[in-house]
Amino acid sequence: MTLSDSAQTLADRLAHVEARMAKAARTAGRAPGETRLVAVSKTHDAATVAQAIAAGQRCFGENRVQEAQGKFPALKAQFPDLELHLIGPLQTNKAKDAVALFDVIESVDREKLAAAIAQASATLGRRPRCFIQVNTGEEPQKAGCLPGETDALVRLCRETYKLDLVGLMCIPPADDEPSLHFALLCKLAARNGLAELSMGMSGDYEVAIRLGATYVRVGSAIFGSRPPLQLGA
Ligand SMILES: *Cc1c(COP(=O)(O)O)cnc(C)c1O
Repeated sequence: MTLSDSAQTLADRLAHVEARMAKAARTAGRAPGETRLVAVSKTHDAATVAQAIAAGQRCFGENRVQEAQGKFPALKAQFPDLELHLIGPLQTNKAKDAVALFDVIESVDREKLAAAIAQASATLGRRPRCFIQVNTGEEPQKAGCLPGETDALVRLCRETYKLDLVGLMCIPPADDEPSLHFALLCKLAARNGLAELSMGMSGDYEVAIRLGATYVRVGSAIFGSRPPLQLGA
């Protein structure tokens, strides 16, 4: 943690992010309530998540099923209004565990995974809201369907697999101007009639709000720095 991290409490940092979100919304002529904050708690323990809950935060993001299984079942039992988002890549063999635990799956990116989620939903009687993750930068190492494949995958998710598909998600390339990627995601969502846009992280959530984000996923600006190599590929 840097000095400024430790000088402020988690509640201070959370309030600061919320204030900046509200300001970005006003600047863009949007209502502050139009964008929800997903607090990305990966690598941070349940006690730290509990501090965020005590400060009023209810929506959390995790990028690994197994890690989330270690901390959230007990918290969800205690706080039934928690909303948990899976924001990292999902293997088909973990789809059932993901459907059992998560309220929202943001990383649907291929037909096989859509099929596995549909099957798990039927088995468990739980239907998480889903986002399609789009690899807007067309980076070979990154998860997400290609922009050109998005319309077809939307159709499959809706018509063939009957997922509760609500929106699109992206993680722009680290070295690119994020606004180009946010604008592309917005265009793809609009032409598919999808209302939700999950875009923007600690470094660029205000830009994302200006460009229409309905969810921003903010980790380090709330919880402090993490060990490296944790960003979902
Ligand atoms: C870790 C992560 C975030 C949050 O990143 P910060 O820069 O810490 O805000 C957002 N989205 C995804 C998919 C992540 O893996």
